[in-house]
Amino acid sequence: NFRLAPNFDAQAQSALRRPNPKLEQCLANSAAKGLPPISVLPMAGQHLSILAQLMGVKSVLEVGTLGGYSSICFAEAGAKVTSIEIDPKHRDTALENVNGLDVEILLGSALEVLPKLAEEGRQFDMVFIDADFEDQWEHFDWAVKLTRLGGCIFLDDVIPSMIKNGQEEGGETILTQIGKDERVQATLTPTVACHSMIPNPVFTGFILAVVKSH
Ligand code: SAM
Repeated sequence: NFRLAPNFDAQAQSALRRPNPKLEQCLANSAAKGLPPISVLPMAGQHLSILAQLMGVKSVLEVGTLGGYSSICFAEAGAKVTSIEIDPKHRDTALENVNGLDVEILLGSALEVLPKLAEEGRQFDMVFIDADFEDQWEHFDWAVKLTRLGGCIFLDDVIPSMIKNGQEEGGETILTQIGKDERVQATLTPTVACHSMIPNPVFTGFILAVVKSH
C-alpha cells in the first residue's frame, strides 16, 4: 500500500527533528516581520544540512535568503554561507536571524550579483538555488561557473516551474535545458510537500547536479 500516510510530514518532523532554538526563533521573527512562510520545510532543511555534512561543505552560495532559515541550516552544518536576497526587508530580517553565524547576505537581484561573484573568481562547494522560478535556468547557468569542480548544485522547486515552462515555452523545461548541459551530471528527485498554507500535499522536487567541468 503506497498511498500517502496522512500527516506524514508532521509525523516525520515530530520523530526526526530536534529542538533548535535558532531555527525556531528564525521562523517566529520572520512571521512577526510579515515575511511569507515559504522557507524550506523543516525536513527539507535537515536534508540540506545532512547533504552539506556528508560532502564536508565549507562554503555555500545561496540564491534566495528570505528570513535565513536555510542559511542557518548550512551554517550550523559547518559552512560559510554567502546568500543573495533581492528584498531589503527579507535581508534585514535574515541578518537578525543569522546573528552570530558565518553568513553574509548580499542585497540585490541574483542576475546582478552572480556575475560579480564570478568576476571576483569566487568558487563554492555547493550552490543552493531557491529564488524566483522564472530565472531558474539563468541562476543554474551562473551556479555552474561558481561551483568548484566536484561540487554540487541543488535547485529547489523544480516540478512547479517545469509545468509552468512547459506550458509557456512549447515543452522546453528546466530539465531539458540542464539535460543539454555537458558541464554537469544531474538528477531529479520528486518530493511531496505538506504545508500549513495548503490543504493538500503537493508534488514538487529538486535537481541535484555535480559539476564536472566549467
Ligand atoms: N531559502 C529560503 C529559506 O529556505 O529560508 C527561502 C527563499 S524564498 C523561497 C525565495 C526568496 O528569494 C525570497 O526572499 C525572494 O525575495 C528572493 N528572491 C526572489 N527572486 C530573487 C532574485 N531574482 N534575486 C534574489 N533574490 C530573489
